[in-house]
Amino acid sequence: MKKIFKGISYLLLIVVLLGSQVVIPDFSDEIEAKSLKDLKQELQELEAKYEANKQQQAQTQQQIAQAQADVKKTTQEKINLETDIADLNAQIEQLNKDIDKKNQEIRNIISYYQISATGEDAYLEYIFTATDFTDFIYRMAISEQLSDYNDSLIKEYQGLIVESENKKKELSKKVSQLETKTRELERKISSLNVDLSETIEGAVDMETELKTIRADLKRMEATYKEFGCDESEDYQACLAKHPDQLPPDTAFWRPVISGRVSSNYGMRTYYLNGVKRTEGHQGLDFAVPHGTNVYSVAAGRVVAIYNKLNCGGNQVYIAHTVNGKKYTSGYMHLASIKVKVGDVVTKDTVIGKSGGVPSIETWDHCSTGGHVHLQIATGHYRIDYLAWSGYTARTFNPRQVVNAPALGKSFKTRTQKF
Ligand SMILES: [Zn+2]
Repeated sequence: MKKIFKGISYLLLIVVLLGSQVVIPDFSDEIEAKSLKDLKQELQELEAKYEANKQQQAQTQQQIAQAQADVKKTTQEKINLETDIADLNAQIEQLNKDIDKKNQEIRNIISYYQISATGEDAYLEYIFTATDFTDFIYRMAISEQLSDYNDSLIKEYQGLIVESENKKKELSKKVSQLETKTRELERKISSLNVDLSETIEGAVDMETELKTIRADLKRMEATYKEFGCDESEDYQACLAKHPDQLPPDTAFWRPVISGRVSSNYGMRTYYLNGVKRTEGHQGLDFAVPHGTNVYSVAAGRVVAIYNKLNCGGNQVYIAHTVNGKKYTSGYMHLASIKVKVGDVVTKDTVIGKSGGVPSIETWDHCSTGGHVHLQIATGHYRIDYLAWSGYTARTFNPRQVVNAPALGKSFKTRTQKF
């Protein structure tokens, strides 16, 4: 084993140094259903909640669409009113022009009258003949009538102007009311959009949770069936009914909730004391902060535990039966171990906390930074075969059964597919 871990490359050190600063949330306090019935109930409730969320989304979208239609309507109403106001302005302008014209006419008439009545030349002109005098009287009468007529027209126009101005005031008031309404609608739309994005966010969280519960349910159903348990029975009690039997499983999950693939399985080249070395790496490494919860990758039974080995440190080995096939998973460089040999575990069992930090796990000389080394072999170690060499001989690339992102890439759940 020394060979496997001897000086896990500088590349890993760099990767770990770069990645260990990332804050990774700890979901270890998640509440778990106790029986298959509980989990079914939990799933039902979550499905109802999810359905309600979808309805809420549709309702909010409907409200947004309605408010947007209202904005369109008020905007059009405002445009119409502004057109009306412009028409009124044109009318007022025209009326003012008409008034000016009439005033000018009156001035012309009066000036004509004044010139005719008081002007010396006119006086001289009209004093000559009786005919002229009659004409003068006649013209005076006409002038008076005309100016009276124009006066009444002006008054009428002025009345129209007042009417138009009043109407304009009324319309302007309506415009400002529409502007207020539009602003209110826009505020409503933006608040509805916030609601919508929050609801959608909630749905995304629920989708992840639903996926997890459905996967758990599938696994639990298989176990309950296999072990002949009643669905209201406690899961752990059901597992304990058959201490000699491994709980079956249907899939492998990653051993940590979040982290980053820091080293692949297979041959790798690294430099140790300036000498180039090429060695086989028998596992898949996940860079995680020190003390991260490490879970079993599938339901199973703890078959071996090693403490403080000078290469690989604290280690746990778990035998699994997944889709009818036998496997044994190994977890290395642990800071602490939370299980003991013989324990039946599920995917939710925290088997230990991650280590691998040389200044903390001083006994482990095969890790340069916080990470979990996951190794998987076929068969049940310590049951089908006893020797460690048997385990290493059966080791294969964990990626064949455990989905993980590419080297250097991170993940945020145990089940997201890459
Ligand atoms: Zn490793």
